[in-house]
Amino acid sequence: THFGFQTVDEREKARKVGEVFHSVARKYDLMNDVMSAGLHRAWKRFTVEVSGVRPGDRVLDVAGGSGDLSRLFSNKVGQSGQVILTDINASMLAVGRDRLIDDGKAVPALQCDAEQLPFPDEHFDCVIVAFGLRNMTHKDKALTEMQRVLKPGGRLLVLEFSQVWKPLAPIYDAYSFKLLPLMGKLLANDADSYRYLAESIRMHPDQETLKQMMLDAGLSKVDYYNLAAGVVALHKGWKT
Ligand code: SAM
Repeated sequence: THFGFQTVDEREKARKVGEVFHSVARKYDLMNDVMSAGLHRAWKRFTVEVSGVRPGDRVLDVAGGSGDLSRLFSNKVGQSGQVILTDINASMLAVGRDRLIDDGKAVPALQCDAEQLPFPDEHFDCVIVAFGLRNMTHKDKALTEMQRVLKPGGRLLVLEFSQVWKPLAPIYDAYSFKLLPLMGKLLANDADSYRYLAESIRMHPDQETLKQMMLDAGLSKVDYYNLAAGVVALHKGWKT
């Protein structure tokens, strides 16, 4: 990768991620509600509260998919602010764009890779990536890009699956490796995609590792909140 080429493994991961999200796009919202028993809505509302975003701010939703966070943030920034929804996957972005239009939200939707954001330096007050970072091939590159486009004083928020409190790990493993693919099969006729999701959750860096990765990407005062005993963590870092 030294010369910007991707290895076969990296290309394979990017292709697999593309396939998975193309395949789950239409059922994505339903599955989110079922899999998290509706909790993802509370986690997203909490994220908006922690962001400190105010009317007039500029917010970038990275890997925004079906646009839940774009919608919540657009209520926060009001008419004088702006939210931009981005995602690498055309099928997911189409679902998000249509939903935002149906809700009457003026949120532009742009297809792009988080590892190469088409925005100038120091442009946004807040960048959010929710349940997206673990799917990225070069997480360090994506984090560096997200910090690049933040204004000084801006915040990066990363909402992502994380390491669950140890005593709960056996139950959580049974849930994600047995029940999750089964629900994927029953509700979306797609056990494979949900098996991939369970695996990608397990491989994702834990709370402290992600904190260090954000510091390495140039963010400061990085800290995190554990939600649902660490099933999910919300990391927040500042650009100084
Ligand atoms: N943020 C939304 C939410 O919280 O409901 C959607 C999350 S969905 C689980 C993950 C999204 O990450 C998918 O829509 C996928 O297309 C996107 N994604 C994966 N790799 C990406 C990349 N390199 N750049 C931008 N988006 C990416």
